[in-house]
Amino acid sequence: MLVAGNWKMHTDLRGAVRLAAEVARRTEAPARRVRVAVCPPFVWLDAVRAALRGSRVLLGAQNVHPSDEGAFTGEVAAPMLAALGCRFVIVGHSERRHLLGETDAFVGEKVRQVLRHGLVPILCVGETLEERDRGDAEAVVRRQLDGALRGVTPGAPEGLVVAYEPVWAIGTGRTATPEQAQAMHAVVRADLAARFGEAGRFVELLYGGSVKPDNAARLFAQPDVDGGLIGGASLDAEAFTSIVEAAVQTTEA
Ligand code: PEP
Repeated sequence: MLVAGNWKMHTDLRGAVRLAAEVARRTEAPARRVRVAVCPPFVWLDAVRAALRGSRVLLGAQNVHPSDEGAFTGEVAAPMLAALGCRFVIVGHSERRHLLGETDAFVGEKVRQVLRHGLVPILCVGETLEERDRGDAEAVVRRQLDGALRGVTPGAPEGLVVAYEPVWAIGTGRTATPEQAQAMHAVVRADLAARFGEAGRFVELLYGGSVKPDNAARLFAQPDVDGGLIGGASLDAEAFTSIVEAAVQTTEA
């Protein structure tokens, strides 16, 4: 399982270092079957890397540009992220799709670029409330998967992570029920199996959307939920590591 924290555009330098160090301290126990990652803002990646040194917490970025380099003011390239020790890159987060106009095709370019550089995309998909109410949730998620993954061959299942994040559950305190999460994860799982064969069955599928310490265990108990992408609760080391602990309990149940 994987539990990844998306810090979004939060924290100052001291707060980021303190949070990283606290997450590292609280997840010290070695050799457990849960991987833990944090995705701070770009500008704190290096400081957070230093704070995580020697710990089991992995580093991720929140975005990437599809080119290796060039005249793209304000953008960050995959080789830069690799050089900073990132293992994961969040791609296609709904805030970028909806607030910044990222298309399925652009998200697909980013996925391919992240894979080319040996990093692991955490590909986010998920429907809006309007789409769900119209009965289009599955079609939207399938379309997003197709736009992002057509022509993609992850070298190994651990080379790709997909996060199902219903937009109506992100930052709203309104979580999908475990049954709703499982139903969509089964759709994603079937899509990946059809696309990648056996390897598709082992891609980690994260649920994201108002995961908190009090609802994590029930979500993680679903057969196709392999962890979480955590926004708000990842800014509090105690809450985040309780969610990690819920994942650990799931693997030991
Ligand atoms: C997210 O933005 O990826 C997310 C899941 O946020 P939250 O946990 O705050 O809903």
